[in-house]
This record gives sequence, structure tokens and C-alpha cells, in this order.
Amino acid sequence: MTNLLIDPRLVVNACAEAGDDSRLTQAVTEARQRGDRLWLYAGALDFMVRGIAHRLPDGGAPDASFSEARGRLDPFTKDMQWLAALAEDCDTPENLDPLTGQLVVAVRRLGSDAKILTEDGSSAFPSAGLDDYLASETGERRIDFIDLKAQQDRVRASLESGIHRVLHHGQYIMGPEVGELERRLAEYVGVEHCIAISSGTDALMVALMSLGVGPGDEVITTPFTFIATGEVIALLGAVPVYVDIERDTYNIDPAQIEAAISPKTKAIVPVSLYGQCADMDAINAVADRHQIPVVEDAAQSIGATYKGRKSGALSLVACTSFFPAKPLGAYGDAGACFTDDASLARSMREVMNHGQDRRYHHPRLGLNGRLDSMQAAVLVSKLEILNDEIERRQAVAERYNALIGASDAAAEIRLPFVEAFNLSSWAQYTIWIERRDEVQDLLSARQTPTAVHYPVPLYRQPALATDAGPFPVSEESAQGVISLPMHPYLDAGTSERVASALEASILQLSDA
Ligand SMILES: *Cc1c(COP(=O)(O)O)cnc(C)c1O
Repeated sequence: MTNLLIDPRLVVNACAEAGDDSRLTQAVTEARQRGDRLWLYAGALDFMVRGIAHRLPDGGAPDASFSEARGRLDPFTKDMQWLAALAEDCDTPENLDPLTGQLVVAVRRLGSDAKILTEDGSSAFPSAGLDDYLASETGERRIDFIDLKAQQDRVRASLESGIHRVLHHGQYIMGPEVGELERRLAEYVGVEHCIAISSGTDALMVALMSLGVGPGDEVITTPFTFIATGEVIALLGAVPVYVDIERDTYNIDPAQIEAAISPKTKAIVPVSLYGQCADMDAINAVADRHQIPVVEDAAQSIGATYKGRKSGALSLVACTSFFPAKPLGAYGDAGACFTDDASLARSMREVMNHGQDRRYHHPRLGLNGRLDSMQAAVLVSKLEILNDEIERRQAVAERYNALIGASDAAAEIRLPFVEAFNLSSWAQYTIWIERRDEVQDLLSARQTPTAVHYPVPLYRQPALATDAGPFPVSEESAQGVISLPMHPYLDAGTSERVASALEASILQLSDA
């Protein structure tokens, strides 16, 4: 994908000369087909409107010609992105006219391969002439495993104003955005209390500390998860006690939990893996019999539902992550805890902020687990479109299921299984295959990136190693799972490319 910043002079020409045959219009059509991204410079809005108005047939009052000019500009720029004008743009190179100079400074923000699309191109700055652009060849692009740019395009205006508001109000820690995010997330998930935290890992830490987990305690969890789930247990001096997973959902098997409970069990931490909630009713039932709190690790499942209720609202407390690649991602580390329990919420709020109950008074130990205002602002913007994005992910998953299920390699692939009572947030689209590592290499050679979540179960990680077990289902899963590109904006053509690359890779291996 190439970023093209369109020279405002070209826009004036295209909009002033009515008719669709201008070369800029052709280049714009071509760029859309190629998947190149088209940008306009926000600092040149006035230049463009005045420029178009000036070229309109004489007659109307200036106000009327401005609105007619705007009326021509708006449809032309409809799917384009406005590149913000920033302070640095005023420091223009001396050898260029001020407008070109601003464009040259601004375009660098779009990356080293970004270009200004101009009439003839120039060797003095990164640019492409219209004719050269139209004549250039494009090869088949590598697919993105996750594409965060299409999402950014949708919320750019609110993102940028949110970030700038924080920049200028100066309450970088515990600013108003944090409280606003907490209120909106609590409402979204359907719980009384949300505490914003600096990361998903810290959110787990805060929840377990608030539940009093410490040295000598045991915490039951799944071994088939990201390291953080087990890591926080061990960091608190407690022992992770693993329970094997279900073969179809990859989530902790509720039927095996009871046997793992001991007098030392202080909490149960199921993980809602790949975006599908663990069987929380069954888990809560076992936990309730033994009066053990349940902490849902909902790092991958924000937006998912279980029997009509949202992930995060399914147990005493839940923790989520807003790592950029999660279904709701910040532009840095971020996370949150959810609960309906007021006293636990108060404890978590204290632990999150150095164990203080008021400034400089620390009845307990805590940590610096605060979320910063910038990340909160980003999340407030993105939360607006989360439900729509989950629906899009669902459609992407269904398309994959249909394509892969109908492929010639279908018999060798185990598709994701989602319980009828679950709606996954599709953090990952993960299949299971034999000879996974070889298939992964062949896919990579076909421009198709994949990831393995996760190749090594926690009980075999050196940092957490234990000889407990065996855990045959975790073992088998770790050997065969592979996650395909997944994000809300993955289009039909790309799904088809991925599915046929997968088919070809598997068939290539079985032919060899
Ligand atoms: C991402 C993740 C975490 C940790 O979240 P961070 O925000 O990266 O600290 C914990 N558990 C699971 C299952 C995760 O996927």
C-alpha cells in the first residue's frame, strides 16, 4: 500500500474542469483499485476552495461561489483522508513555495514510501507525476495479518481531536478521558464498575492482588494461553495449577476443574481464547460450590457475548487488554478490570494506584497500573465502532469458514468451533492442521502472514515450567493451531487469496 498525498493544485484543476476525464480522476480510480491510500492536506482546504471558486464562470457573489466550489470539492474528496496540518509544517524548505514546502514536510509523516502526487513529479522531494503513476506496475502485495489503518481512517477526526485535546489540557495522568472511558466501558460491558488499567497484564495483576492472591496460594488456569495469564500468578508468589482445555474451543475444560481444587485454591482464571468466552456458567458453578472467585481473562474477548451477556460481565471480576492488536486496541498498552462488586472495585482502584486510599496514604501495597489520558482518548474514539467491527469480523469468519470448508484441503483442516450460545469477538481466526510449521512457511512464501497462538503451553515455558500434567489436548493444540489474517476490514478478495494459499500449501505438502 502506497500513501499518496494529492497536490492541491491538481484538485483545483480536476474540480474546476467539470467532467470525469481528467487524469487526476483516472489516477484516483486507479489508486482505489490498487489499494493505495489517497490523502489531502487539511492545511490546503482554503487554497482549494478559493482556487476552484476563482475558476468558476463569473457571476455569483463570493459566498455563492465558495459554496459551489465546496460542492465540487466534497464529492471528489469523499473517500479520501485529510492529513492534519501540524506545527512542524510551517518550517518549510527554502527552495520550495510555501504550499509545496508544507506538503513535503507533512508527507514524511506517512512513511518513507509516501509520495506527493503532482502534475509532473519532481526530483526535489518524494513525488509521483500523474502519467508516471498511471503507467507504473504493481505486483501482488503481501497481505496484512492485521490492518489497523482502515479502522483509523474511519475514526481519524475524533482520534486526532481527542489526542490534541489531551495535548493541550495537560492532564496526562487521570485526565477526564479516563473517567469517560470507564463509564462507557462499564455501560458497554454491562457492569457497575470499570477500572482502566495500564495493560491487560497489569489488569490481571490488580485483580489477583485485590483478591489477596499471594505466596503459597494456588490459582487454577489454562495452560493454553498467552504467558501473562500464568506470569502474574507466579509473580505474586502463587502457583499456577493447570487444567487441560476442550479440544474444540481451546478453552479450559470446566469438567476437569473440580479435581484441581485444593484448600489452597484462591482463584480460577479461565481465558476466553481467540475471542470466544469460556463456559462461564459451568465454571462459576464449580467455583461457587467451593466459594472461589472467578477472574475471566477477557483480554481477547471484549465485545464477545456468552448466552446473550457480554464478556467481562460473566464472573466476579474480568480483565481485558487494549493492546493494539486486540479487538479493541489502543495505540500503546492499555487494559481494564470489570466487576459488579463495589468493595472489590474500590480495592482494585487502590491497588492500581500504589495502594493509596487518598493521596500519599497507602494502607496496602499496589503498583503503578494507571491508564494514561492519551490512550483513554484513543479508546473512547474506537469504542464507538466496536460493535460494527465485531459484526464485520463475524462476516470475515463466516466467509473463511465457507471458503476453507469448500476447499480441496478441507478434510485436513479443523475449522474454528464456536458454541451456539457464544458470539465470538474473533480476536483470532484459528484453525488446526497437521505439519503446521511447514504449512506456515509455505503460506509466508505466498505472501500470506500467519501467527501461532500459542506454540508452547505454559507448563513447558522455562519461566513457569512444572512437571504437572500430562495435558494432552493443550499439547496437541500447541502443535497444530495457526491463525490466519483477521481484522474487520479484510475484504472478500483477500479472504479468497488466503483460502487458496492455504489450500495450495496443504496440497503441495501432501503431494510431496
Ligand atoms: C494480550 C493478553 C494478555 C495481556 O495483555 P497486555 O495488554 O498485552 O498486557 C493477557 N492474557 C491474554 C489471554 C492475552 O491475549
